[in-house]
Amino acid sequence: MNADLHCHSCVSDGTLTPEALAQRARERGVELWALTDHDEIGGQHRARDAALALGLPYLTGTEISVSFCGQTVHIVGLGFDPDDEALKRGLAATRGGRRERALEMAESLAKAGIHGSFEGALKYVGNPDLISRTHFARYLVETGACADTSEVFRRFLTEGKPGFVPHRWAGLRDAVQWITEAGGMAVIAHPARYKFTANEEHALFSEFKSHGGRGVEVVTGSHSAAEAVRYAEAALEYGLAASRGSDFHSPDESHTDLGALPELPGSLTPVWEALQDRIQRPA
Ligand code: AMP
Ligand code: MN
Ligand code: MN
Ligand code: MN
Repeated sequence: MNADLHCHSCVSDGTLTPEALAQRARERGVELWALTDHDEIGGQHRARDAALALGLPYLTGTEISVSFCGQTVHIVGLGFDPDDEALKRGLAATRGGRRERALEMAESLAKAGIHGSFEGALKYVGNPDLISRTHFARYLVETGACADTSEVFRRFLTEGKPGFVPHRWAGLRDAVQWITEAGGMAVIAHPARYKFTANEEHALFSEFKSHGGRGVEVVTGSHSAAEAVRYAEAALEYGLAASRGSDFHSPDESHTDLGALPELPGSLTPVWEALQDRIQRPA
C-alpha cells in the first residue's frame, strides 16, 4: 500500500495548499494520505474534501511539537476527530508563543548581521499563528545569506547557532492524550532525527507507550535505509505499529516527494491496519 502519512501545507510550513497537495499525492500514486501540519489542524477539512473528491482515501493528521529531555520531539497524530475541542485547545496552546519566539530569533540573527528577518520570514507565512524556523530559512535563502535551506539549518537556527531560541513545547503525555482521546493514534515521528543517548531514547519510547502511544515512523523522508532497519527493530521491540510518510514540505526544498518511499518491512504491523475504521473513503 502506497500510504503517505506525513506532509505539510501552507497552513504550517509547507508551500502548497491542502488542495494542491491532495492533487500531487493522487498524481504520484498515493493510495492513503494524511496532511500533518505542525501544531495545527486548520487544513484538515480542506485536505479531506480535496482527497475524497479525487478518489483518495484520507486519514486526519497533525504533527505536535513536544519538549522531552531538553530536545524537541515530534509526535504525529492520525485518525482523530478534527472537531475535538480538547485537541483544538491543546494545539492552540502549543502554537502560542511562536510569535514571541520569532521576534527573539530575529533579534539574535540581527546580532549576527542579518537584519529584517522577522518581516522577511512573515512574507512566507501562510498562517500568522504558525511562524516557524522554515519561514526564516526561506528568507535567508532569498537574501543570499545561504544557498539553500539545509545550509541555513547548518549555520543558523539550530542549537548553539545564531537565531536559535530554546522553546517550551507541549508535554509528551499531553500530546499523546490529546490525540488518543480524540479517537486517533499517536506516532513517534522520524526517531533517527533526535540526538538522544540510548537511555534517553529508551525513556522516550517507554514513556510514549505508557501514555498510550501506539506507533513509530519507520520509513520516512528523514531516514536512511539503515535508520529504517534500526527503527523497524525498535517497532518490534516496543510493540509499536509502523508508519510511513515523506515529510514533504515543498517541490523546491524536499528530497522525498509524496508517495516516493520504500515499502515498510513485511515483518511490521502498518498503522493503517489498526486505523481501518478511521479511514475516510470516497463515496
Ligand atoms: P520549528 O517548529 O519552528 O522549530 O521549525 C521546525 C521545522 O524546521 C521542521 O519541521 C522542518 O521543516 C525544519 N527543519 C528543521 N531542521 C531542518 C534541517 N536540518 N533542514 C531543513 N529543514 C529543517
Ligand atoms: Mn516542518
Ligand atoms: Mn518533524
Ligand atoms: Mn514534518
